[in-house]
Amino acid sequence: MKAPRIYIVVPCYNEEQVLPETAKRLHGLMQRLIQSGQAAADSRITLVDDGSGDQTWAVIQDLTRRYGEVEGLKLAHNAGHQNALWAGMMTVKDRADAVITIDADLQDDVEAIPQFLQAYREGCQVVYGVRSQRKTDTAFKRNTAHWYYALMGRLGAQLVYDHADYRLLGRQALEALSQFGESNLFLRGMVPLLGFPHKEVYYQRGERFAGESKYPLKKMLAFAMEGITSFSVKPIRLVLLLGILFAVAGLVMALWVIIRHAAGHTVAGWASIMVSVWVIGGVQLMALGLIGEYVGKIYTEVKHRPRYILETYLDKPAGASGGGRGQGIDRQTQQTNNEEKA
Ligand code: UDP
Ligand code: MG
Repeated sequence: MKAPRIYIVVPCYNEEQVLPETAKRLHGLMQRLIQSGQAAADSRITLVDDGSGDQTWAVIQDLTRRYGEVEGLKLAHNAGHQNALWAGMMTVKDRADAVITIDADLQDDVEAIPQFLQAYREGCQVVYGVRSQRKTDTAFKRNTAHWYYALMGRLGAQLVYDHADYRLLGRQALEALSQFGESNLFLRGMVPLLGFPHKEVYYQRGERFAGESKYPLKKMLAFAMEGITSFSVKPIRLVLLLGILFAVAGLVMALWVIIRHAAGHTVAGWASIMVSVWVIGGVQLMALGLIGEYVGKIYTEVKHRPRYILETYLDKPAGASGGGRGQGIDRQTQQTNNEEKA
Protein backbone atom coordinates (compact mmCIF):
# COMPACT_ATOMS: atom_id res chain seq x y z
CA MET A 1 0.00 0.00 0.00
CA LYS A 2 1.22 3.47 -0.88
CA ALA A 3 2.03 5.58 2.16
CA PRO A 4 -0.99 7.79 3.01
CA ARG A 5 -0.80 11.53 2.69
CA ILE A 6 -1.54 12.72 6.19
CA TYR A 7 -2.40 16.16 7.51
CA ILE A 8 -1.89 16.99 11.16
CA VAL A 9 -4.35 19.77 12.04
CA VAL A 10 -3.52 21.88 15.09
CA PRO A 11 -5.96 24.50 16.43
CA CYS A 12 -4.07 27.43 17.98
CA TYR A 13 -5.57 30.19 20.08
CA ASN A 14 -3.04 32.54 21.65
CA GLU A 15 -0.38 29.85 21.55
CA GLU A 16 2.69 31.94 20.68
CA GLN A 17 4.55 30.43 23.62
CA VAL A 18 4.08 26.80 22.70
CA LEU A 19 4.06 26.85 18.91
CA PRO A 20 7.81 26.84 18.13
CA GLU A 21 8.29 23.77 20.33
CA THR A 22 5.11 22.11 19.03
CA ALA A 23 6.16 22.61 15.42
CA LYS A 24 9.64 21.29 16.19
CA ARG A 25 8.29 18.11 17.75
CA LEU A 26 5.69 17.53 15.07
CA HIS A 27 8.30 18.19 12.39
CA GLY A 28 10.62 15.62 13.96
CA LEU A 29 7.81 13.10 14.10
CA MET A 30 6.76 13.80 10.52
CA GLN A 31 10.32 13.25 9.27
CA ARG A 32 10.43 9.89 11.00
CA LEU A 33 7.03 8.90 9.61
CA ILE A 34 8.08 9.84 6.08
CA GLN A 35 11.44 8.10 6.32
CA SER A 36 9.90 4.90 7.64
CA GLY A 37 7.31 4.93 4.87
CA GLN A 38 4.35 5.43 7.23
CA ALA A 39 3.43 8.79 5.71
CA ALA A 40 3.76 10.13 2.17
CA ALA A 41 6.52 12.65 1.53
CA ASP A 42 3.99 15.39 0.81
CA SER A 43 2.23 15.04 4.18
CA ARG A 44 1.58 18.31 5.98
CA ILE A 45 1.17 19.95 9.37
CA THR A 46 -1.59 22.60 9.26
CA LEU A 47 -1.52 25.16 12.06
CA VAL A 48 -4.90 26.87 12.39
CA ASP A 49 -4.83 30.32 13.97
CA ASP A 50 -8.22 30.69 15.61
CA GLY A 51 -8.31 34.50 15.55
CA SER A 52 -5.61 34.87 18.20
CA GLY A 53 -4.95 38.22 19.80
CA ASP A 54 -1.23 37.63 20.31
CA GLN A 55 1.64 36.92 17.91
CA THR A 56 0.39 33.43 17.00
CA TRP A 57 -0.08 34.20 13.31
CA ALA A 58 3.34 35.84 12.97
CA VAL A 59 4.86 32.76 14.62
CA ILE A 60 2.95 30.47 12.25
CA GLN A 61 4.09 32.44 9.21
CA ASP A 62 7.63 32.11 10.44
CA LEU A 63 7.20 28.36 10.95
CA THR A 64 5.86 27.89 7.40
CA ARG A 65 9.13 29.36 6.18
CA ARG A 66 11.26 27.25 8.49
CA TYR A 67 9.67 23.85 7.92
CA GLY A 68 8.82 22.52 4.48
CA GLU A 69 5.68 20.68 5.58
CA VAL A 70 4.17 23.31 7.86
CA GLU A 71 1.16 25.22 6.54
CA GLY A 72 -0.78 28.07 8.14
CA LEU A 73 -4.50 28.71 8.12
CA LYS A 74 -5.84 31.92 9.58
CA LEU A 75 -9.44 32.37 10.69
CA ALA A 76 -10.75 35.92 10.59
CA HIS A 77 -12.07 35.80 14.15
CA ASN A 78 -12.04 33.54 17.20
CA ALA A 79 -14.47 30.81 16.18
CA GLY A 80 -13.73 28.50 19.12
CA HIS A 81 -11.85 25.21 19.44
CA GLN A 82 -14.46 23.00 17.73
CA ASN A 83 -14.94 25.36 14.80
CA ALA A 84 -11.19 25.79 14.41
CA LEU A 85 -10.84 22.00 14.20
CA TRP A 86 -13.65 21.88 11.67
CA ALA A 87 -12.09 24.68 9.60
CA GLY A 88 -8.78 22.82 9.49
CA MET A 89 -10.29 19.44 8.67
CA MET A 90 -12.64 20.70 5.99
CA THR A 91 -9.97 22.84 4.34
CA VAL A 92 -7.56 19.93 3.89
CA LYS A 93 -10.22 17.24 3.42
CA ASP A 94 -9.79 16.78 -0.31
CA ARG A 95 -6.00 16.73 -0.16
CA ALA A 96 -5.54 14.28 2.68
CA ASP A 97 -5.87 10.52 2.90
CA ALA A 98 -6.14 10.91 6.65
CA VAL A 99 -6.32 13.86 9.04
CA ILE A 100 -5.03 13.80 12.61
CA THR A 101 -6.16 16.51 15.01
CA ILE A 102 -4.12 17.40 18.08
CA ASP A 103 -4.05 20.34 20.52
CA ALA A 104 -1.27 22.88 20.20
CA ASP A 105 -0.03 22.42 23.76
CA LEU A 106 1.00 18.80 23.07
CA GLN A 107 -0.70 17.52 26.22
CA ASP A 108 -1.56 14.62 23.98
CA ASP A 109 1.43 12.38 23.36
CA VAL A 110 2.51 12.70 19.71
CA GLU A 111 4.13 9.28 19.96
CA ALA A 112 0.65 7.76 19.71
CA ILE A 113 0.45 8.92 16.10
CA PRO A 114 2.41 5.95 14.65
CA GLN A 115 -0.18 3.71 16.36
CA PHE A 116 -2.99 5.79 14.84
CA LEU A 117 -1.43 5.16 11.43
CA GLN A 118 -1.01 1.47 12.16
CA ALA A 119 -4.75 1.26 12.90
CA TYR A 120 -5.48 3.23 9.74
CA ARG A 121 -3.41 0.76 7.70
CA GLU A 122 -5.43 -2.05 9.24
CA GLY A 123 -8.53 -0.44 7.79
CA CYS A 124 -9.81 1.88 10.52
CA GLN A 125 -11.39 5.10 9.29
CA VAL A 126 -11.65 6.48 12.82
CA VAL A 127 -8.96 6.20 15.49
CA TYR A 128 -9.63 7.65 18.95
CA GLY A 129 -6.80 8.80 21.17
CA VAL A 130 -7.84 7.81 24.69
CA ARG A 131 -6.12 8.94 27.89
CA SER A 132 -4.94 5.97 29.86
CA GLN A 133 -4.72 8.12 33.00
CA ARG A 134 -5.54 11.63 34.09
CA LYS A 135 -2.84 12.13 36.69
CA THR A 136 -1.93 15.56 35.37
CA ASP A 137 -5.49 16.87 35.60
CA THR A 138 -6.73 18.34 38.87
CA ALA A 139 -9.00 16.03 40.92
CA PHE A 140 -11.81 18.50 40.17
CA LYS A 141 -11.38 18.29 36.39
CA ARG A 142 -11.00 14.52 36.51
CA ASN A 143 -14.10 13.95 38.63
CA THR A 144 -16.33 16.40 36.79
CA ALA A 145 -15.21 14.87 33.49
CA HIS A 146 -16.13 11.36 34.66
CA TRP A 147 -19.51 12.45 35.99
CA TYR A 148 -20.08 14.14 32.70
CA TYR A 149 -19.39 11.00 30.66
CA ALA A 150 -21.79 9.08 32.89
CA LEU A 151 -24.47 11.76 32.50
CA MET A 152 -24.04 11.90 28.73
CA GLY A 153 -24.28 8.12 28.55
CA ARG A 154 -27.59 8.21 30.44
CA LEU A 155 -28.87 10.94 28.17
CA GLY A 156 -28.22 8.71 25.20
CA ALA A 157 -25.10 10.27 23.63
CA GLN A 158 -22.38 7.70 23.08
CA LEU A 159 -19.09 9.34 23.93
CA VAL A 160 -15.79 7.50 23.91
CA TYR A 161 -14.67 7.51 27.53
CA ASP A 162 -11.67 9.80 28.15
CA HIS A 163 -11.29 10.71 24.51
CA ALA A 164 -11.12 14.38 23.60
CA ASP A 165 -10.26 15.76 20.19
CA TYR A 166 -7.08 13.80 19.55
CA ARG A 167 -8.05 11.48 16.71
CA LEU A 168 -7.46 10.30 13.18
CA LEU A 169 -10.13 10.42 10.50
CA GLY A 170 -9.70 8.75 7.14
CA ARG A 171 -10.94 10.43 3.98
CA GLN A 172 -14.17 8.44 3.94
CA ALA A 173 -14.97 9.40 7.53
CA LEU A 174 -14.18 13.05 6.81
CA GLU A 175 -16.43 13.00 3.80
CA ALA A 176 -19.23 11.59 5.96
CA LEU A 177 -18.56 14.10 8.73
CA SER A 178 -18.73 16.99 6.26
CA GLN A 179 -22.39 16.13 5.67
CA PHE A 180 -23.32 17.05 9.23
CA GLY A 181 -24.99 20.43 8.92
CA GLU A 182 -25.21 21.58 12.54
CA SER A 183 -23.80 24.94 13.56
CA ASN A 184 -23.28 23.90 17.18
CA LEU A 185 -20.39 21.50 16.88
CA PHE A 186 -19.60 18.84 19.44
CA LEU A 187 -17.15 16.66 17.56
CA ARG A 188 -16.60 14.01 20.19
CA GLY A 189 -20.32 13.28 20.06
CA MET A 190 -20.57 13.46 16.28
CA VAL A 191 -17.67 11.20 15.32
CA PRO A 192 -19.04 8.08 17.06
CA LEU A 193 -22.23 8.54 15.01
CA LEU A 194 -20.26 7.96 11.82
CA GLY A 195 -19.78 4.27 12.33
CA PHE A 196 -16.94 2.84 10.16
CA PRO A 197 -14.28 0.50 11.52
CA HIS A 198 -12.66 2.24 14.46
CA LYS A 199 -10.16 1.66 17.20
CA GLU A 200 -8.93 3.26 20.42
CA VAL A 201 -5.28 4.00 21.03
CA TYR A 202 -4.21 4.68 24.63
CA TYR A 203 -1.69 7.32 25.59
CA GLN A 204 -0.63 9.24 28.66
CA ARG A 205 -1.79 12.81 28.84
CA GLY A 206 0.90 15.21 30.00
CA GLU A 207 0.94 18.78 31.23
CA ARG A 208 0.62 21.82 28.98
CA PHE A 209 4.29 22.75 28.59
CA ALA A 210 3.83 26.53 28.30
CA GLY A 211 1.10 29.11 28.50
CA GLU A 212 -2.17 28.46 30.26
CA SER A 213 -5.38 26.63 29.49
CA LYS A 214 -7.69 28.33 27.02
CA TYR A 215 -10.56 26.50 28.70
CA PRO A 216 -11.40 28.31 31.91
CA LEU A 217 -14.24 26.89 34.02
CA LYS A 218 -16.82 29.09 32.31
CA LYS A 219 -15.89 27.85 28.84
CA MET A 220 -15.76 24.26 30.14
CA LEU A 221 -19.29 24.50 31.54
CA ALA A 222 -20.59 26.09 28.32
CA PHE A 223 -18.99 23.25 26.35
CA ALA A 224 -20.53 20.63 28.64
CA MET A 225 -23.98 22.20 28.23
CA GLU A 226 -23.41 22.35 24.47
CA GLY A 227 -22.76 18.63 24.45
CA ILE A 228 -25.93 17.82 26.34
CA THR A 229 -28.32 20.06 24.42
CA SER A 230 -26.78 19.17 21.05
CA PHE A 231 -27.14 15.47 21.57
CA SER A 232 -30.14 14.80 23.68
CA VAL A 233 -33.75 15.92 23.96
CA LYS A 234 -34.13 13.87 27.14
CA PRO A 235 -33.92 16.96 29.37
CA ILE A 236 -37.10 18.31 27.72
CA ARG A 237 -38.86 14.99 28.35
CA LEU A 238 -37.64 15.10 31.92
CA VAL A 239 -39.27 18.50 32.30
CA LEU A 240 -42.52 17.07 30.98
CA LEU A 241 -42.31 14.19 33.45
CA LEU A 242 -41.58 16.60 36.24
CA GLY A 243 -44.57 18.68 35.19
CA ILE A 244 -46.85 15.63 35.26
CA LEU A 245 -45.50 14.64 38.66
CA PHE A 246 -46.13 18.08 40.07
CA ALA A 247 -49.61 18.25 38.55
CA VAL A 248 -50.55 14.93 40.15
CA ALA A 249 -49.10 16.04 43.48
CA GLY A 250 -51.05 19.28 43.19
CA LEU A 251 -54.29 17.35 42.58
CA VAL A 252 -53.71 15.14 45.60
CA MET A 253 -52.99 18.26 47.63
CA ALA A 254 -56.20 19.88 46.41
CA LEU A 255 -58.21 16.81 47.36
CA TRP A 256 -56.66 16.79 50.80
CA VAL A 257 -57.45 20.50 51.28
CA ILE A 258 -61.09 19.97 50.26
CA ILE A 259 -61.46 17.04 52.67
CA ARG A 260 -59.90 19.05 55.50
CA HIS A 261 -62.15 21.98 54.66
CA ALA A 262 -65.28 19.80 54.69
CA ALA A 263 -64.23 18.45 58.05
CA GLY A 264 -64.11 21.97 59.35
CA HIS A 265 -60.33 22.29 59.77
CA THR A 266 -59.57 25.24 57.54
CA VAL A 267 -55.82 25.58 57.49
CA ALA A 268 -54.61 29.14 57.34
CA GLY A 269 -51.21 28.01 56.15
CA TRP A 270 -49.04 30.91 55.18
CA ALA A 271 -45.96 28.69 55.21
CA SER A 272 -47.32 25.95 52.99
CA ILE A 273 -48.56 28.46 50.42
CA MET A 274 -45.27 30.28 50.37
CA VAL A 275 -43.37 27.01 50.01
CA SER A 276 -45.47 25.75 47.15
CA VAL A 277 -45.40 29.08 45.34
CA TRP A 278 -41.65 29.17 45.51
CA VAL A 279 -41.09 25.52 44.66
CA ILE A 280 -43.46 25.50 41.73
CA GLY A 281 -42.27 28.91 40.55
CA GLY A 282 -38.71 27.66 40.65
CA VAL A 283 -39.47 24.49 38.79
CA GLN A 284 -41.36 26.44 36.14
CA LEU A 285 -38.53 28.86 35.64
CA MET A 286 -36.05 26.03 35.41
CA ALA A 287 -38.21 24.27 32.85
CA LEU A 288 -38.64 27.44 30.84
CA GLY A 289 -34.93 28.10 30.91
CA LEU A 290 -34.18 24.61 29.71
CA ILE A 291 -36.68 24.85 26.90
CA GLY A 292 -35.15 28.23 26.10
CA GLU A 293 -31.82 26.46 25.62
CA TYR A 294 -33.30 24.36 22.86
CA VAL A 295 -35.20 27.25 21.31
CA GLY A 296 -31.95 29.20 21.31
CA LYS A 297 -30.27 26.29 19.63
CA ILE A 298 -32.92 26.14 16.93
CA TYR A 299 -32.42 29.86 16.48
CA THR A 300 -28.72 29.53 15.83
CA GLU A 301 -29.20 26.47 13.63
CA VAL A 302 -31.77 28.03 11.32
CA LYS A 303 -29.53 31.01 10.71
CA HIS A 304 -27.02 28.72 8.99
CA ARG A 305 -24.20 31.09 9.68
CA PRO A 306 -20.79 29.98 8.47
CA ARG A 307 -18.95 28.13 11.21
CA TYR A 308 -15.76 30.04 10.52
CA ILE A 309 -14.44 32.64 8.11
CA LEU A 310 -11.16 31.99 6.38
CA GLU A 311 -8.79 34.88 6.08
CA THR A 312 -5.62 33.31 4.74
CA TYR A 313 -4.39 29.86 3.80
CA LEU A 314 -0.64 29.54 3.41
CA ASP A 315 -0.89 26.13 1.81
CA LYS A 316 1.61 23.77 0.30
CA PRO A 317 -0.14 21.57 -2.24
CA ALA A 318 1.37 18.26 -3.30
CA GLY A 319 4.48 18.76 -5.37
CA ALA A 320 5.19 22.22 -3.94
CA SER A 321 8.85 22.62 -3.14
CA GLY A 322 9.38 22.24 0.59
CA GLY A 323 11.08 24.76 2.79
CA GLY A 324 9.90 27.80 0.89
CA ARG A 325 7.02 30.07 1.48
CA GLY A 326 3.54 28.64 0.99
CA GLN A 327 2.13 29.14 -2.47
CA GLY A 328 -1.49 29.76 -1.61
CA ILE A 329 -0.97 33.25 -0.28
CA ASP A 330 -4.25 35.01 -0.74
CA ARG A 331 -5.01 38.57 -1.63
CA GLN A 332 -5.09 39.68 1.96
CA THR A 333 -1.53 38.62 2.60
CA GLN A 334 -0.33 39.83 -0.75
CA GLN A 335 -1.73 43.21 0.06
CA THR A 336 0.15 43.33 3.31
CA ASN A 337 3.29 42.29 1.48
CA ASN A 338 2.84 45.10 -1.00
CA GLU A 339 2.22 47.53 1.80
CA GLU A 340 5.43 46.39 3.37
CA LYS A 341 7.27 47.02 0.13
CA ALA A 342 5.66 50.40 -0.50
N1 UDP B 1 -8.33 26.59 21.20
C1 UDP B 1 -8.82 27.19 20.03
N2 UDP B 1 -9.78 28.16 20.14
C2 UDP B 1 -10.30 28.55 21.35
C3 UDP B 1 -9.81 27.91 22.53
C4 UDP B 1 -8.83 26.93 22.41
O1 UDP B 1 -8.39 26.86 18.93
O2 UDP B 1 -11.15 29.43 21.37
C5 UDP B 1 -7.29 25.54 21.08
C6 UDP B 1 -6.04 25.76 21.93
O3 UDP B 1 -5.11 26.59 21.28
C7 UDP B 1 -5.54 24.35 22.10
C8 UDP B 1 -6.82 23.53 22.12
O4 UDP B 1 -7.84 24.35 21.56
O5 UDP B 1 -4.76 23.92 21.00
C9 UDP B 1 -7.21 23.07 23.50
O6 UDP B 1 -7.18 24.16 24.40
P1 UDP B 1 -6.47 24.05 25.83
O7 UDP B 1 -5.24 23.23 25.73
O8 UDP B 1 -6.29 25.43 26.36
O9 UDP B 1 -7.59 23.28 26.65
P2 UDP B 1 -7.36 22.25 27.87
O10 UDP B 1 -6.33 21.25 27.41
O11 UDP B 1 -6.89 23.05 29.01
O12 UDP B 1 -8.71 21.63 28.08
MG1 MG C 1 -4.55 21.65 26.73
